Amino acid sequence: MTIFHYEVDADGVATITWDLPGASMNVMNADGLEQLNAAIDKAHADEAVKGIILTSAKKDFAGGMDLNILSQARAQAEASGGNPAEAMFNMVMDMHGLLRKIELAGMDFKTKKGGKPTVWANPGTAAGIGLELGLACHHRIVADNPKAKIGLPEILVGIFPGAGGTTRLIRMLGLMGASPFLMKGKMLAPAKVKAQGVVNDVVPADELLAKAKDWVLAAKDADCVQPWDAKGYKMPGGAPYHPAGYQMFAGGVAMVHGKTHGAFPAAKAMLSAVYEGACVDFDTAIRIEARWFTNILMNPSSAAMIRSLFLNKEALEKGAVRPKDVPDMTVKKVGVLGAGLMGAGIAYVSARAGIEVVLMDRDQEAADKGLGTITGLLDGQIKRKRMADAGKATVLSRVTATPDYEALKGCDLIVEAVFEDVRVKADVTKKAEAMLDEDAIFATNTSTLPISELAKASRNDKNFIGIHFFSPVDKMLLVEIIKGENTGDPAVAKALDFVRQLKKTPIVVNDARFFYANRCIIPYGAEANRMIAEGVEPALIENAAKQLGFPLGPLQLGDETAVDLAEKIMRATKEALGKDYPENPGDDVVQTLFDLGRLGKKTNAGYFDYDEKGKRTGIWPGLKEHFPTAAEQPDVTEVKHRLMLAQVLEAVKALEEGVLEDVREGDVGAILGWGFAPWSGGPLSWIDIMGTDEVVRICDALAQKCGPRFNAPALLRDLAEKGESVYGWFHPAQAA
Ligand code: NAD
Repeated sequence: MTIFHYEVDADGVATITWDLPGASMNVMNADGLEQLNAAIDKAHADEAVKGIILTSAKKDFAGGMDLNILSQARAQAEASGGNPAEAMFNMVMDMHGLLRKIELAGMDFKTKKGGKPTVWANPGTAAGIGLELGLACHHRIVADNPKAKIGLPEILVGIFPGAGGTTRLIRMLGLMGASPFLMKGKMLAPAKVKAQGVVNDVVPADELLAKAKDWVLAAKDADCVQPWDAKGYKMPGGAPYHPAGYQMFAGGVAMVHGKTHGAFPAAKAMLSAVYEGACVDFDTAIRIEARWFTNILMNPSSAAMIRSLFLNKEALEKGAVRPKDVPDMTVKKVGVLGAGLMGAGIAYVSARAGIEVVLMDRDQEAADKGLGTITGLLDGQIKRKRMADAGKATVLSRVTATPDYEALKGCDLIVEAVFEDVRVKADVTKKAEAMLDEDAIFATNTSTLPISELAKASRNDKNFIGIHFFSPVDKMLLVEIIKGENTGDPAVAKALDFVRQLKKTPIVVNDARFFYANRCIIPYGAEANRMIAEGVEPALIENAAKQLGFPLGPLQLGDETAVDLAEKIMRATKEALGKDYPENPGDDVVQTLFDLGRLGKKTNAGYFDYDEKGKRTGIWPGLKEHFPTAAEQPDVTEVKHRLMLAQVLEAVKALEEGVLEDVREGDVGAILGWGFAPWSGGPLSWIDIMGTDEVVRICDALAQKCGPRFNAPALLRDLAEKGESVYGWFHPAQAA
């Protein structure tokens, strides 16, 4: 199988063209590295070759490394016997050897003469090793492709650019310039990457290869020497021991730590590679980068993050859990009932996905209000230059805002988002279904009401399903699809096809109180409230959560989602469970805030105090007056375990009870749905990182100290006894 094609033209220019067979996007794998290496050797050895163009036959250059291989690399290194870290390090150094070979291009390193000019001719998107290969070339030309995005997104899946990207970019741009690429994984358009100094030229697509060839034929010896290999090289902005560099490095490290709270191993390792590498010569820096990269690849967090945030997220988006026998159910016309916060958001994302939308509310005014929300969202996109002006009219032309049920005729899917009230929902279900064809699917966006209960109002509960969006709909990537007792496969397939059209990530769960995401997130806040009532220092609770890598501490989350919502859920749950409601002294905390009108961010007062601009100024001192802090405070580890297990045990129970049908959905849903510590790969991956036996040990200790809510569920205890991991039991092929 040829992945890299090699051709020399009459002028002595060798073109190495990347074209991974059977794929729309190039990704690097072991065979690819071997073939590229051979092609480079061939070009260097051939005296007739004056220089090299490295390009791609596809519309893009490359999507990066084949992450399947990276996630398996650790297991392979372990299986190799001997020292797995050493095997991994050698593998990484082989890759560096190839890139360094491209860069030195056969030159005499002392005189810096005789290198074969090598140019990167990139037709479109280049991510990860795609760009890293470009950085190793002497000159970089990119086609002016409006869809192209160029960058190093590794940090977003728990690794960092480990094929020289970290070392080269820092030396090219300095710490300030390289930060958005390295620390944030920013992918930018060609013109922006050029403005940052990462590429030399952006040219019309049809001139790409000609321009590349012109450069090769005109290049002098000095053009083939990278800045860091040239005499007198100085790092832009200064290296760490330069007075200016010192300030930047010290500040940069503090800033990253302030954001990550030390919870993300990859960010820490990358900073070490950057800092240590900046103090030494290039080749030593590359070895340092390789050591830290090895350290990260050996860390179970990176394998878990890649598994959840890349492999399994993509598998779910591609229909891993879609009923196989149901033909394509792409939505053509959707009716959205209720034009409030959620309905308008659902209508907006649907119209943007090219679907015809009927947005319905009680009267024209309410429907128009929803249309106004959509217009506002579109204006925001135009302002942020994410959309052209003309796009707004196109999207709006797909939306009909009306109180008229007749307009729902021809809809193949309804998403109901009216008030959270069984009677109101039953009424609109009946009225809407009267307008629909027999095989249309009816979905509810309820967040708390049982789907099977709501399905009773439907003429056909097989075609009735839950499609639970999260707020704000335009931003949140997860959609929870909930099967009622009698929901049929066509409804599930319809919901999944709809979510695919919206380019969001679905999980499919069974009907149970709070479904999956809310089931896990509610106990997070409840445990924090309980701790406040027990006298645990609120700042200790909030900081413990941050150290665990949660984007929001439970108190901030409480303010953002609103205290009155927590109070409402609390009241409704008490009503529903009656004597089975588990008493929680933390309920008093919610009640106190609620009674005082401290409803959270929206009232500029909640667990936190806010200034007049709505910025948090600190935890509300009154909290301690109502709930005095105890003289003796628990260890931070105990607080962390309580906050973590409050969620993790719910995920296990959801799996045990069959609410979750797949561990992958439990993990992907947790990270995308409520930002569950991404470094862990999700609650079930967290258990595997800790070890099932260790988690049971922690549960036993907490159950004894804090109560039976921490009892290890039978499934977890069983796995621990057998010495099995969660993935090993459920999904052996993906067990770390
Ligand atoms: P909302 O109050 O903002 O909007 C509800 C809309 O439904 C209003 O515009 C109202 O006029 C309309 N409506 C009420 N009765 C109607 C009727 N008989 N016919 C037509 N329209 C009617 O509420 P929301 O926050 O958008 O929530 C809607 C649904 O989504 C609820 O079931 C809620 O539980 C669920 N949900 C909400 C969130 C959230 O964060 N707000 C998240 C997920 C799910």
